[in-house]
Amino acid sequence: MAVLGLRDTDEGDWDKVRVMQQNGIAEHLRNRLLLNIISAAFIIAAAWGQNNLYYLAGWGVVLLGSLYYILRDFEVIDLNGRFAKSRERMKKTALSGIAQGLIWSAPVLLFVGTEPSWSFLTVWTAMGLLMAGSALLLYAMPLATVIFISVICLAGIAKFVLAGQLLMAGAIATYGITIGAACVANAKSYLQFRFSEEGSDEQGEVVSLLLREFEESSADWLWQLNSSRRVVHASSRLAAALGREPEDIEGRALVELFAGDAWETGNLPSSLHDLAEKLKRRESFSNMIVRVSINGTGRWWELSASPKLDENGAFLGFRGVASDVTEKRESSEKIAHMARFDTLTGLPNRLQVNEALAKSLENAQQWRGRCGFMMIDLDRFKSVNDTLGHLVGDRLLAHVSQRLTSLMSDNELCGRLGGDEFAVVVRDASDRSYVERLANKIIESLSRPYLVDQHKLYIGASIGTATGPRDGQTVEMLMRNSDLALYRSKDGGGGQAKAYEPRLHVYAEERRVMEIALRDALDNKEFSLNYQPVVSAGTDGVVGFEALLRWHNPHFGHVSPAKFIPIAEEARLIYQIGEWVLQQACQEAMKWPGSVKVAVNVSADQLTNPSFITSVVSALQDSGLAPQRLEIEVTESIFLHEGTGAVDTLEEILALGIGLSLDDFGTGYSSLGYLRKTRFSTIKVDRSFVQGAAKNVAESLAIIRAVVAMADSLGMQTTAEGAETQEEVDMIKSLGCTKIQGYFYGRPMLAEDAAKLFAFPQLHAEMPRLSPECVKREAS
Ligand code: C2E
Ligand code: CA
Ligand code: CA
Repeated sequence: MAVLGLRDTDEGDWDKVRVMQQNGIAEHLRNRLLLNIISAAFIIAAAWGQNNLYYLAGWGVVLLGSLYYILRDFEVIDLNGRFAKSRERMKKTALSGIAQGLIWSAPVLLFVGTEPSWSFLTVWTAMGLLMAGSALLLYAMPLATVIFISVICLAGIAKFVLAGQLLMAGAIATYGITIGAACVANAKSYLQFRFSEEGSDEQGEVVSLLLREFEESSADWLWQLNSSRRVVHASSRLAAALGREPEDIEGRALVELFAGDAWETGNLPSSLHDLAEKLKRRESFSNMIVRVSINGTGRWWELSASPKLDENGAFLGFRGVASDVTEKRESSEKIAHMARFDTLTGLPNRLQVNEALAKSLENAQQWRGRCGFMMIDLDRFKSVNDTLGHLVGDRLLAHVSQRLTSLMSDNELCGRLGGDEFAVVVRDASDRSYVERLANKIIESLSRPYLVDQHKLYIGASIGTATGPRDGQTVEMLMRNSDLALYRSKDGGGGQAKAYEPRLHVYAEERRVMEIALRDALDNKEFSLNYQPVVSAGTDGVVGFEALLRWHNPHFGHVSPAKFIPIAEEARLIYQIGEWVLQQACQEAMKWPGSVKVAVNVSADQLTNPSFITSVVSALQDSGLAPQRLEIEVTESIFLHEGTGAVDTLEEILALGIGLSLDDFGTGYSSLGYLRKTRFSTIKVDRSFVQGAAKNVAESLAIIRAVVAMADSLGMQTTAEGAETQEEVDMIKSLGCTKIQGYFYGRPMLAEDAAKLFAFPQLHAEMPRLSPECVKREAS
């Protein structure tokens, strides 16, 4: 039954058997046609003259038509090259067996009688030839043949039975059964033969079984192509990976399956071009990464394959494996990206900046051009980071990099070197002023306020520039020299761009040596304090002194605090030095009348030190000074420390009864909002506004008026700083400032000189009044 195709057993790949059978039929198609035509010729010749010619011709036409149909049917199949729907074909073949049997029954039923004659003998001999021949040729498709023979024999038997010739009927039946059985036996041995022939593939089957097992246990899929590079034996896993059904992909070109929509447009990714090329050239390849489009989404597949050849070396197709490596590839891309880009800001990192600079420098050297390099450092970023936390700091850096990027043209590359350090490579800096202009644009843009998490942040930028190859023949030299220039602009208070010049090396060296000297300055007693009087605007009487630090070093001589304080801050020496200043100032103030205060400058770094309050308290205890007589001066920069220690420290200072002044008001962030947050005792208006007000600069006047009005309403005092002339003093007084400090009343003076002002307090009804003459005397 199985051989006939009437039943499929569970074992074995019967679809494959059917395909084999079909192939067998196709193999003998020509012989079969020949057999049919020869038999028909004998029959027509034998029946000629005894039958109606129209009947004979009609039969011949029907026969030829049916033969043509069979031929064409197989041609179509041959062109397709596959027999996928073999079950359906089976039915069709059976039907064609019946049809053929009926056509061939005509001669025995219509053309000859039951009486023996030469024509009778010829027709039956031809029929015997046809049936035997069919049984031999159509062994591959036994069902159709058996039906074909049965139909003819039944027709013959029926005819002889009706004519009473039972012997002849029996002979035909025996003949039919014998021939039919022979056909089935033949078919069976044919199939066995084909199976054993496929046995050479058996080994391959074992391999593929093993591979299938491997396929199921791993992430890889197997694929096979035929000689025209179309998918054969598509596995369901491969189909699933491609987002399709196995039937959909069977017989389709591999590259077409991978290309997706790009197949129509012809716009294939280059990796697919490479794959197509390899397949066309029948080359084996391994670990080839190709872009695969699966239902419109791109994936990366890794393919390995080698061509399959038969024993004669003829190309049969490809067999290979595939796996999806999208995640792996993306993560390795990410790693590659990470190696060249800064993760926080997405800007090129130090490595890429180095490369770009090296390339620009090489070009400049080769073409006698110039390239530029800029080091950018953010001013006051550290305090934001220290106090508002890294999260805010990171966001601020992202804002900074956005602003930076928006300023870049094709001629520049900007990157982040780390921390708050950025760099810009200017590829072509032949225009000498170009770098300077760009630097100023950057400073202007980066200094505008930032809004990060409801914090309005003010930072600035300092820039150092260098031009290659003039300022450095190598990347390292250029970087070091622009760094020196950067140092220089930081030194100058930040917010500016400085170009490298050879003498910067001298400054840098000086600074380094100065730092070393500063470390020993306390032990060597090189510090001293000067005291500058602060007078009441109403009475001109001295109400206090500001303690100002002085450093005299045997090597450097007198060094300005504007120069050494930043170095001390950076070297983290300021805390110890500040402690000494506090002690000293408090002791000195004890020599003055009880109503005279002493103001001490304190850096932001000191405030964030947890033991700062302790050191203030011990300075007061050691000297015996009343806390009300001490005033701590801080600048607006401490408000960048918002939310953490610094502002809490201010509260503790106030809680101790110590005064608090806001120094240099107007130079920094100048937000009147700060004034409401902390209860300052005094606002010190910066010297620049005092000067401006005297010259009737509208802005200066407005600021002083606003500060005075606000301070009055909040019960704070105002000190005008740096009043040098009578006009300035008059203007300040008219604007309503409560205190004045400046050369007009007195320069910073030695401690003894300050004490001397109170030497004969009994002579003065009030505090000593300071006049311009006094100023000159003190200064000398
Ligand atoms: P500051 O706190 O603003 O101090 C006032 C500065 O202005 C002093 O400069 C003073 O000499 C100067 N000055 C006062 N009146 C006039 C004037 O009429 N005209 C002009 N042109 N200048 C005047 P100095 O002593 O060089 O101090 C500079 C800065 O150094 C101070 O600015 C202060 O920020 C810092 N500093 C000084 N001593 C200390 C200290 O002990 N600790 C800390 N942390 N910083 C200090
Ligand atoms: Ca001050
Ligand atoms: Ca000041």
